[in-house]
Amino acid sequence: MATDTGELTGVRIDKLTRRFGDHVVLDRVDLQIAPGEFVALLGRSGSGKSTLLRALAGLDYDVAGDGELRIPDRVSVVFQDSRLLPWRRVLDNVILGLRAPNPRERGAEALAEVGLAGRERAWPTELSGGEQQRVALARSLVGEPELLLADEPFGALDALTRIRMHGLLRALCKRHQPAVLLVTHDVDEAVQLADRIVVLDGGRIAVDIRPGLPDSRTPRDPGFQEVRELL
Ligand code: ADP
Ligand code: MG
Repeated sequence: MATDTGELTGVRIDKLTRRFGDHVVLDRVDLQIAPGEFVALLGRSGSGKSTLLRALAGLDYDVAGDGELRIPDRVSVVFQDSRLLPWRRVLDNVILGLRAPNPRERGAEALAEVGLAGRERAWPTELSGGEQQRVALARSLVGEPELLLADEPFGALDALTRIRMHGLLRALCKRHQPAVLLVTHDVDEAVQLADRIVVLDGGRIAVDIRPGLPDSRTPRDPGFQEVRELL
């Protein structure tokens, strides 16, 4: 979010609550993400990760906040399935809704960045699953979002493709510097990619750690024991 001075302020949620009937899924959750910070969100299946992400994406009108909910203007979302429109060519998917000068040039640049130069006129169904997720990443970054939300974006890919996508996502984020909230159930993925790891449990953020220096980022670190216990 840009303030009056144009300064980026990141994400701030205060006491965010979400209930489905009597089931309290998010129980007064507090979370801040600094501009450019990469946060991985872990938690057991059903712990509320997608619910939190949908709230931040503005896709959920029934969240209740006792406090503040501050989300940047430019937010983009990537899901496990690419959600490309099959009746539009790859480039048209990338620039759909993009409000910027020279959208087709920008879209082609974004495709080149994800390793798909020359595939502008392909149809989504002509691409592999990994390539479709590359297009989804290009689409999510072409508008220079301040916040990128990703809900298990590599969950449906094979192991080797997933590793390649990790390298790609890291490079893209280094270049574009969005704040990132990446939902994953893969602790190794979280360690590889994130500056910070938060774990949802019992409706609350139960763990909030920074894995530390690059060469100490191994899942065998003592700090990870508490993360693994909650997964
Ligand atoms: P996660 O992404 O961590 O696996 P979700 O956020 O999808 O978990 O779901 C958290 C809990 O909220 C689950 O118990 C789920 O059944 C419930 N839930 C999510 N969406 C709905 C909904 N639309 N109606 C009722 N319950 C829901
Ligand atoms: Mg989910």
